[in-house]
Amino acid sequence: LTLPRNSSGLHVVHIAAEMAPIAKVGGLGDVVSGLCKALQRKGNMVEIILPKYDCMDHDRVQDLKVLHETVESYFEGQLFKNKIWVGIVEGLPVYFIEPLHPAKYFSRGKFYGDGDDFRRFMYFSRAALELLLESKKKPDIIHCHDWQTAFVAPLYWDIFANRGLNSARICFTCHNFEHQGAVPAHDLKPCGLDVDHLDRPDRLQDDSSHGRINAVKGAIVYSNIVTTVSPTYAQEVRSPEGGRGLHLALKTHSRKFFGVLNGIDTDTWNPRADNFIKAQYSYDDLQGKLINKDYIRKQLGLSTSDPSQPLVGCITRLVPQKGVHLIRNAMYKTLELGGQFVLLGSSPVPHIQKEFESIAENFKSHADARLILKYDDVFSHLIYAASDMFIIPSIFEPCGLTQMIAMQYGSIPIARKTGGLNDSVFDLDDNSIPAELRNGFTFVNADEQSLNGAMERAFKYYKKNPEVWQELVKRAMTIDFSWESSASQYEELYHKSLARARAFAQT
Ligand code: ADP
Repeated sequence: LTLPRNSSGLHVVHIAAEMAPIAKVGGLGDVVSGLCKALQRKGNMVEIILPKYDCMDHDRVQDLKVLHETVESYFEGQLFKNKIWVGIVEGLPVYFIEPLHPAKYFSRGKFYGDGDDFRRFMYFSRAALELLLESKKKPDIIHCHDWQTAFVAPLYWDIFANRGLNSARICFTCHNFEHQGAVPAHDLKPCGLDVDHLDRPDRLQDDSSHGRINAVKGAIVYSNIVTTVSPTYAQEVRSPEGGRGLHLALKTHSRKFFGVLNGIDTDTWNPRADNFIKAQYSYDDLQGKLINKDYIRKQLGLSTSDPSQPLVGCITRLVPQKGVHLIRNAMYKTLELGGQFVLLGSSPVPHIQKEFESIAENFKSHADARLILKYDDVFSHLIYAASDMFIIPSIFEPCGLTQMIAMQYGSIPIARKTGGLNDSVFDLDDNSIPAELRNGFTFVNADEQSLNGAMERAFKYYKKNPEVWQELVKRAMTIDFSWESSASQYEELYHKSLARARAFAQT
């Protein structure tokens, strides 16, 4: 199944809760497939372990078949069998774990959001390590992601290393410190970890609320490499507010903590070869962009009388992190400035979903605005391709992918200067930045006035200075947001960590 690695290539196993395009809720899914593809291209042997969700997109898994019926894993004092499936996704070998457990952990018709998520993913983390042990694999690196697989780090060092799965260094990437997996300490027990041994301030004990353990803190303490998804966010999380209470743990472990900016998967997000859009195009021939704009307007029943009227797009999970009040404000401001607005988004928060449903209802036959309140991967491609500007007013943003995807499609970001947005969007009017790097419009304060100011400047350039705008679009489309350089940074972190382990073994 796996491709041969080159002589310096590593064997890297990623254990994750999401992978695009088959099981994606947000950026985590994009990162797992984008990073793994880039690591594979560089000659590493890459494998991925995922839960076998009933709701994943089975059509996009090639050669899916059962590999083992019998990998057993421990949970709550018993051994449960797991059916292990294997298949190819985007050229990558993926192992899927189907627990034969009465709770049917991954047959819930959704990826997250059940009351027992903590148990489901704790079970999965342990079963993934049982699979590696049982199949006698000797990975160099085990890379886990977010709280759902954070348990891998303490399980590996406290249990599996003693049982013979001991070739690997552990890398943990936190994609968002808002989600930490903090629960009453005894809830950790089912996976077999020794709660008395771990419920201590220097181990898994939650720093904000004693009596609770914190899965992400455990991964920070127990991993050999800890990363987050942009350099600016890596700084922000060192403060109590940014780190959501994990700042002290990050400070203690700062020597192994790094910010690596995510890339985007340029096979998936490429306007020259995108089969989901009406007309393909490139920076040196933007005719297709206009065709996409006209097409989406007709499809959504928006006015087509003025082809030069700017179209503003927004694609997002509607959660407080994304600045929902500013998104709402951007819609009204767009109309005031004479543009058109298309939002694609959905919310797991009932009152936000309801609020946007009522706005969508009010705008359902408006000539210049449409809200589409669902998750729709195919339609997202068309919005990126059709829009002229793209709104990302996040309150905080670990990395953010939509600004990079938008730029690849020639849609200019209007973004708040926070986290990864601060590392990838540079204001056209900021003279402190080299002119060739300026690619969008930014604002600092999370208020309507600041957002409005950035939008007014963008509209002014668009309407009054079309040549400058065309240059801006071309520049944005030619920026290299691929995974190549970020994957090299991960490779370097992996190699350094392995070298440290070898040096330590020799002393
Ligand atoms: P987050 O991971 O916080 O959701 P990111 O910007 O890192 O934010 O990644 C968001 C990813 O999810 C992008 O690929 C974006 O296109 C996609 N996305 C978000 N909402 C939707 C939606 N409603 N329909 C389709 N794709 C969406």
